[in-house]
Amino acid sequence: MAQYGFLFDSTRCTGCRTCMLACKDYKDLDQSHAFRKVYDFEGGSVTAAEDGSVTSDVFMYHVSAACNHCANPACLEACPVGAVVKDEGNGLVYINQDVCGGARACVDACPYGVPIYFEDVKKANKCDGCRDRVAAGLRPICVESCPLRALDFGEIEELRAAHPDAVDAIAPLPAGDATGPSLCIIAAATATADAKGVVTNEKTIAGDEAWAS
Ligand code: SF4
Ligand code: SF4
Repeated sequence: MAQYGFLFDSTRCTGCRTCMLACKDYKDLDQSHAFRKVYDFEGGSVTAAEDGSVTSDVFMYHVSAACNHCANPACLEACPVGAVVKDEGNGLVYINQDVCGGARACVDACPYGVPIYFEDVKKANKCDGCRDRVAAGLRPICVESCPLRALDFGEIEELRAAHPDAVDAIAPLPAGDATGPSLCIIAAATATADAKGVVTNEKTIAGDEAWAS
């Protein structure tokens, strides 16, 4: 089985949200729901010495994240009714809306906080890797939309081979060892798995505010 996944280049991403909005538009999502989210992550401090000199290790970067179509999907393992499916051909993970009973087990299980529970239809849903577009030979809409070419999509082993220094986790994403994310990240100098900082747009990430906050 091929395994498709995303590449994210944090050295290129400006946090513009175009990927997020293109996805919301394509998937016809309302203001408070997004399948792809862009984290603003900031850390560091400024220190003034007695001699009046000032040093700073302040940093800021963005992380555009969606479902990682994991090798070992926690969402799939948790679903009590078999609604989460991993495509045998391309490894994309999607939630069959005809089967989902709204148990929210996938929402609780995913370490990336990817599946969303939709109150109106009482079902969970998430990024499916634009499997309809992929089946038609196209790339996911987020990848197509990025003006900085910070996203790519393809067979994850090919992406990793093309970017041997890439990693599978940078803060604030969790470590990738639990679910085997099909994710390849080109990390900016300050973007590391153990970078200490805060997500400064967490209300947007949680869907509590408009995407533009
Ligand atoms: S569209 Fe590209 S540059 Fe803009 S937030 Fe998304 S990944 Fe980053
Ligand atoms: S990122 Fe979460 S929702 Fe996506 S396949 Fe992995 S465990 Fe499932």
